[in-house]
Formats: sequence, C-alpha cells, structure tokens
Amino acid sequence: MKFEPVIGLEVHAQLKTRTKIFCGCSTAFGAPPNTHVCPVCLGMPGVLPVLNQAVVEYAMKMALATNCRVEGTSRFARKNYFYPDLPKGYQVSQYELPIARHGHVNITLADGTVKRIGITRIHMEEDAGKLVHDPDRPVSYVDYNRTGVPLIEIVSEPDIGSPEEAGAYLRQLRAILRYLDISDGNMEEGSFRCDANVSVRPGGQPEYGTRTELKNLNSFKFVEKALAFEIDRQAVALGDGEQIVQETRLWDTEKNRTVSMRGKEEAHDYRYFPDPDLVPLIIDRDWIENVEKSLPELPDQRRVRFISDYGLPEYDADVITVSREFADYFEDCVSRVNTPKTVSNWMMGELMGLLNARGLSAAESPVSAKRLAGLIKLIEDEVISGKIAKTVFDEMADSDKEAETIVAEKGLVQVSDTSALEEIIARVLENHPDEVEKYRGGKSKLFGFFVGQVMKETKGKANPQVVNRILKDRLDQ
Ligand code: ADP
Ligand code: MG
Ligand code: ZN
Repeated sequence: MKFEPVIGLEVHAQLKTRTKIFCGCSTAFGAPPNTHVCPVCLGMPGVLPVLNQAVVEYAMKMALATNCRVEGTSRFARKNYFYPDLPKGYQVSQYELPIARHGHVNITLADGTVKRIGITRIHMEEDAGKLVHDPDRPVSYVDYNRTGVPLIEIVSEPDIGSPEEAGAYLRQLRAILRYLDISDGNMEEGSFRCDANVSVRPGGQPEYGTRTELKNLNSFKFVEKALAFEIDRQAVALGDGEQIVQETRLWDTEKNRTVSMRGKEEAHDYRYFPDPDLVPLIIDRDWIENVEKSLPELPDQRRVRFISDYGLPEYDADVITVSREFADYFEDCVSRVNTPKTVSNWMMGELMGLLNARGLSAAESPVSAKRLAGLIKLIEDEVISGKIAKTVFDEMADSDKEAETIVAEKGLVQVSDTSALEEIIARVLENHPDEVEKYRGGKSKLFGFFVGQVMKETKGKANPQVVNRILKDRLDQ
C-alpha cells in the first residue's frame, strides 16, 4: 500500500527586542550567567509583569507578513509545569486567544510549482532559562539570562507533504523573519526552533492518521532526516498491520533514528488559565495599519520584482532573494552594470562559493558589490574573458585591488584584435593538418580542440567569440 505523509510544524522564533517580554532586562546573548535578571523574570513573589510593546509590534509584523488576521483582542495564559529552568513554575504564553490566526505562506517546490502552506496561529510567549550540566560532577547549574526573552510560536496547518516541503517552509519562514529584522533565525544557536508533527495515511484516505511529534531538531538537515525516517517507520509499521501510538520522539543524531521520549499518558497537563496579572491585549485598527505600512519588501515581492525588473529566471530570483543582504548586494551590483543575468551567475557561482568557504554573509563579503561590478564591466566590455575573470576574482578575494588594476598589472587584457588572432589561428591549422581533414570529413567535435589550441597559444586571453567566428570561417571554407 502507498502511504502519504502529513506534516505540521510548530516553530519558535526568538525576537530581537532589546529587552525581555515582561521586564527591562537585556536580551543580549553571551553575558555571564544570571547577570541579565531581575525579580520579575526570576519570578519573585509580589512582582508584576509589564508587557513590552516592541514584542507585540514584532509579532504583528510576522503575522501581517504571513497573511494572518491580527486579532483585536488576545490574552496571555499561564502554562503550568515544573522544571528548574522555569523559576515561576509556569510559562506565560497565549492559549485560547492568540494574537493572530488564519495565515499562509507560499513555498516553491523543486519542480517550480508554488504551494500554499496554511498558518493556524501565531502567539507570543516567554522563553525559559537554560540548564548547564557539569560534565565532571553530578551537578547541574541554571542560567536565567534567557528567562523571559520573547518568542513567537508559528503553528502550521498539516499542509506539508514531504520532508523537502518542510525544509522549504522553514527556509521561507526564516527568510521572512530576517527580512523583517525581528529574529536572527539561527537554528544552530537556538533562536529558531522547530517541532515536527507527522503522520501517514493510505493514499486517498481523507482522515489523518495518528501523529507523532519530533523534537530535538536543531538544524534543517535534522528536520528533513528525522521526518524521512519517521515517515518510513510509520509506513512500515502500518504495512505490517501495527498501530501508531501518539507520542513524542527525539531525533538521535548519532544513530540517525527517532526514539520514543514520552507517550500520550505521560503528556503534561498544563492546566492553562488566563494570567490574572496581565490585562487582555487590545489592538486597534490604527496600530495594525501603521505596522502594515512599516513592513519592508518581503522575499516573495522581491522575487517577483527581480523577475520583472531584471529579467532573471525564476530559479535565479529564488536564490538571490534568499536573504535580504544577498538581494541588496545584487541590486547594488546591478545598478553599476548592464547585464543582471551575468551578475546573478557570478553571485550564485563564484561569490557564493567564496562566502560559503569562509563562512561569511553577503554583507561581510571580501569582494564588495562595487568591486564585483568593476569585474563584470570588464567582461561586458570584452576586455577580459569570463575564464580570466575567475582568476581575477580569486585575486580580488585576497586583496583590496580593483579588477582593472589586477588585469593591467598581470597583462590579462583579452586579445580581440582580429588580425593577431587570424595569424595564430592560421598557424594552429597549419600545425594540425590531420585534425583539419578529419573535421572537414564530418568530425565536428574537433572544433573544441582547435579552440583549445588557440587558447593555449594566447594563454587563455583570446576573445572566445572572435576565435569561434574566425575558426568557423577558416574551417568551413
Ligand atoms: P498540540 O497542541 O498538541 O501540539 P495541535 O493541534 O496544536 O496540537 O497541533 C500541533 C501541530 O500538529 C500543528 O502544526 C498541526 O498542523 C499538526 N498536526 C495535527 N494533526 C496532525 C496529523 N494527524 N498529522 C500531522 N500533523 C498534524
Ligand atoms: Mg505540540
Ligand atoms: Zn528581568
């Protein structure tokens, strides 16, 4: 029997506000343990939380950017459970009245089709602290700096149909968060976390199957691997006539498998109730409209504009708009040259290779957009060939020199002078009479051989278009 996967994701994103959600403590990462704390975030008796307006604004931005309806009234609730990283004994979250509902984002699949993934709800909540386990002694420490750092949780509809779609959806959410500049979206550092719910059902069956929830997925690769494993595990079990138990499972990064963490019976009863210390949150139309007006151009809009304004293929537009910085780099570069497609080729090839190799973002690129434009200009003006340009680019990556300077210093200027090339080509043909005969006898593949010989003679500096033209001329007479 063929089984079809059904996936729904719960994503937590840490918000980049300056202070915590209910007190004035700093959210800065990396401070000595327990230095960004106060009676409020430590949950001392008698303290009162005060909601940070910036958190509401950031949550609204994400809601509007993902086509959600922002609710006029929402409310905070207490989610009760005991754990040492939670000093109050409850987490303040939103439960029955979240700030936003009924949204969606579009993802682009490998075959180019666009799929809409529904967003059930977005709500605000506070983060918990962090336990640090001593590797040498049976002791654990707790750091409350993260306690009260604002999060939004984005819950998707079970609209995701494969591990690849899950990856595309997560990348899309992360891109939106980063374009909005409201979260780092860094999975490895924990500012972007994902729990994955997955079930399978026989193809064509309208009801969903029993799901499991996967945790401990701290990279995109783990999300996709864990989902693929789990889909397989469930399909095999159902195929064998077994039942799936609803449970929480962990991804074991060593063994590359999911393992049961807790079943439904052990699931927490959180005893949610409205937080009596926080008044209902009322958001008026004006506020929503002002936030809506303040939204920057989003990845989808930018992608469409890059296709229409610069004539980029869809694939290129997709890759170039992956981050705001990368797209900014593109626009900076394009404003200085005439061929946007050449810019996107260079960015997707050499530049991305360089940035990945050095672990840098586009904004930190050793070759600025201005300098790359200078290089592309030389190609456009046929001063150097694309091939030579790659050597120049490598040199630019390790120096501050302009492309023009490097080309002049190294004497890399392309030979486009027809009479010079005619002479070289005549010599090449003279020296290879057998190949010429074979070519004329129908072995047209030899054309590349002649081009190669000319390039060798000119140390790669011959203008390929001119060489092609003259060679064709000579060989086809
Ligand atoms: P909980 O509060 O227990 O986590 P929710 O109903 O809020 O449960 O669902 C959490 C996530 O699980 C959502 O993203 C939803 O789309 C997804 N989900 C619900 N049912 C299924 C199912 N049968 N298979 C896969 N995912 C599901
Ligand atoms: Mg859940
Ligand atoms: Zn505090």
